[in-house]
Parts: sequence; C-alpha cells; structure tokens
Amino acid sequence: MCKLTSCQYDRWKPKDDVMPEECGVFGIFMDDQRYDPAEAAYVGLYALQHRGQESAGIAVTDGKDVKFHKGMGLCSEVFKDNLGKLLGGHIGIGHVRYSTTGDSRAGNAQPLVMSYRGGRLALAHNGNLINSSVLRERLEEEGSIFQTTLDTEVMANLIARQSKEGILKAITAMMRVVKGSYALVIMTQDELIAVRDPLGIRPLALGKLDNNYVVASESCAFDAIDAEFVRDIRPGEIVVVNKNGLKSYQAQSSMETALCVFEYVYFARPDSDIDGISVYRSRENMGTRLAQAFPIEADLVSDVPDSATPAASGYAAESGIPYAKALAKNRYVGRTFIQPSQALRERGVKLKLNAMKRNVHGKRLILIDDSIVRGTTSRKIVEMLRLAGAREVHMLISSPPVVCPCFFGIDTPSHDQLIGSKNSVEEIRRIIGADTLHYLSIDDLLKTVEGAGCNFCVGCFNGCYPIDIRKALKETEQLDLKTIE
Ligand code: AMP
Repeated sequence: MCKLTSCQYDRWKPKDDVMPEECGVFGIFMDDQRYDPAEAAYVGLYALQHRGQESAGIAVTDGKDVKFHKGMGLCSEVFKDNLGKLLGGHIGIGHVRYSTTGDSRAGNAQPLVMSYRGGRLALAHNGNLINSSVLRERLEEEGSIFQTTLDTEVMANLIARQSKEGILKAITAMMRVVKGSYALVIMTQDELIAVRDPLGIRPLALGKLDNNYVVASESCAFDAIDAEFVRDIRPGEIVVVNKNGLKSYQAQSSMETALCVFEYVYFARPDSDIDGISVYRSRENMGTRLAQAFPIEADLVSDVPDSATPAASGYAAESGIPYAKALAKNRYVGRTFIQPSQALRERGVKLKLNAMKRNVHGKRLILIDDSIVRGTTSRKIVEMLRLAGAREVHMLISSPPVVCPCFFGIDTPSHDQLIGSKNSVEEIRRIIGADTLHYLSIDDLLKTVEGAGCNFCVGCFNGCYPIDIRKALKETEQLDLKTIE
C-alpha cells in the first residue's frame, strides 16, 4: 500500500511547524485513594522519559478545578518543587515531549489545558497530524485563535467546535477530519478518555490498578506504578472511563493498520509489549536474523548501547561468537541525536560512548547498532574502535537503511541529511570506515514482529506511507468545516 514514494516526497515537504514530535502520554482515573493521580502520573512519566526529554507536564482534576504544571526539562526537573501543588485530584494526565529544536519552547509543553462550553479540557498527544497546517489556516480564517504551534491545539479546537452534543460525538467528529498519527489522552472534569488513530500508528495501552484504569504509551509505565497491563487500545478506538466504569467505542475502523515499526527498532523501551509483541524479543530476533543473513568470522559481538543490546545478544546466541562490551556508555549524557551543529553532534558521541580498549584490542569485532540516520554515530564509533586497536570492525544494523523522513511522530532529519537517502550501502560503508556493513532487510524486519495484532508502517525505510498525504491535504482544503459532525 505504497501511497507516497520517496520521489513523490520531494514534491511535498512539511511546513516547519509540523515537524514530528516524539512523545509519551499517560492518564489515570482513580476510583479509590490508593494512588494520588499526580503521583501516579509523575512515576508513569518517569518510566516514559525515553520518549521525550525536552518538556514534561501533568494536569489533574478533582471534578471542580483543573490544576496543571508543565515546563522545559526532564520530569525530575519540572516537578522538583511542583508536584505537591497537584495532589488531591481523582483524574490525572501527563506528557513528555521531544520536538525538533526550532519548535522548542515552554509554550508548546503539554498537556494543553483549555476551557470549552462543556467545562475544562486537558489533552496530551503523541503523534503528528499531516493536515494540521491546513486545518489551522481554515480555522483561523473562521476566527479561531491559537496560542501554540501544536497539532494538539487544532484537535482541541475541533473538539470544542463540535461539543454541543457531548464530548464523545465531538471526538468522533474530530477523528473524521484529522489525518495522521495520534495516541491521545483527554481529561474532562469527570472523565478520562483515550483515543488511538484509525491506523494505530503510535502505541497506546490500557492498564488497571485494582479498580482504577490507566492508559499509557507503553506498558513499562504500568509496571512502574504496579498496575497490570489489560490490552492495547485498538486503532480507531475511543475508551471512556468515568465513575460508572469503562466504555469502548469503535469510532473508526480501517482495513489496514500501520503501527510504526521503528517503535520496536529503536524508540520503545525493551521491557514494553506493544500490540502483542515484546520489544525486547523483537530486537533479539532482529539480531538472530542478522546472524542468519550475514555470517561473519569474528572474535566478538558487541552493541552500541543501549537500544542495540538485545540484537547483539540475538546475534551472539545464533552465531556462537561470544558477546562482550566494546563501548562504555556515560549514562549521564542524554540524547546526542539532534544537536544544533555537526561539531557538537560529533563531540556528543565521544562524550556518550568510549571504546573499551582492553576488550577490543587486536580483535575482529562485529558491532551492532539499531539504525544509521545521519551516520555521525557509526563513523565516530568505528574511528574510536580502530584507535583502540580493533583489527576489524564489521558494522551490522538491525533495521534497513533510513531513506525517508517520518511524518508520523519519529523525529528524523530531512531527506538531504539522511545518509541512506543519497548513498548506497557500499558508499555508507566507506563513509563510516567499517570493514563491512550490512543492514537487515525490510522483509526480515517484518518477520521479527510477526504475530502482532496489526500491520506496520515502514515509511522511513521505503518512502511508502500509510496515508496519501497530498490527497489528504486536498480533501482538507475542500472540507466544509461547518458541516462536520
Ligand atoms: P546518526 O548518528 O544520526 O546516524 O544516529 C544514529 C544513532 O541514533 C543510532 O545509534 C540510534 O540508536 C539513534 N537514533 C535513531 N533514531 C533516533 C531518533 N529518532 N532519535 C534519537 N536517536 C535516534
């Protein structure tokens, strides 16, 4: 179902304000007092911190008032002196976010809290709408005012416009208009609502803490608060939790689903299960398949910590070559991926990773990483390992070459900065300086997630996106916003 090929991509470039965001969302409805929602949200967000380190926020309600706090930084920094002010509610939602640098500002932190005719509304969104710029322009033409550059505010605006007949109908109407990815957690004064886009592009799971319902981007957040995983929210489903319990509505159904396969490759935590598949197990399988496809004579198998560790263990088990650490990671350095300049990016790699000289000296090394994006990390690492005395460095990647940007919520640089979009594998090998370089094929990657309750989006690996972007934009331009219901 290739709706937009990579060459078509060049004719459609997103505006700056709609670049994808990586985020984590959390929500809890407490029927008893076992856990304070603000505290539960704080712990849950801490467990989802890998999904976004730029800003964090929590909103809670006690049924009358809505309190919230959000700001730039990690959860521990944002809530250091502020969690106490949020205690005492019965519903809470939270959000962690990483966006591209141009869009980095406190005003864009979530949850987004607003008033509408039904009372107060708070929203936390993971994903990216591809038609939000057009929708925003259309809404502005009709007099709407926006305070942020967030897609989430467009969704909130659409919900508010349709809210005369209740929040459920309003959300359903909004879902008919917006196109893209959304795992959305909404809090009204008396309800917690979770919504997953019809293609299920971003994950969203349902959990239970005694009689209390919890939702989160990943199941690892449930473990952190001792909640149990119940099930994944289905693509196109709206789950409403209130004092009468939980109700599910299948607002939209799509024959085809398109969960982002990059969640398994890199983004999600290894201790999470997504749509029926263990992230750890899928990564280990990626390593096994690499070993079957690319047997190499070597002394050691190693990983670029941490996301490639399960794949390296899979490769070592399948090949019989011992696993050992080739790189030590400084755990106090955050992500090095998006930095304002190439020089800082390169310094960032050195700060984060260092060669284990005694392990690699004189050795023929198989080094496994989950992905190559710009190529900075691999080039620096190969150089480091050679300086540390490695005799051979064979680089194996547990995913295919990233050839196209993501428009659905993974933060990838533009086309021209992706090393895989303009170079062959052999050219990339030469650029990064490895003895050999091999990537997992798309077919093999999809085999590692076989058995999931969904199909997958592999748009970053082949330019085939699950939504025809130009068609969606055209339809949005022609839409009569007054008649949406
Ligand atoms: P690069 O140096 O640009 O080739 O980035 C590749 C490294 O970044 C790999 O080690 C990945 O683990 C990591 N990575 C891949 N995708 C992302 C992303 N969306 N955000 C942050 N890091 C990433």
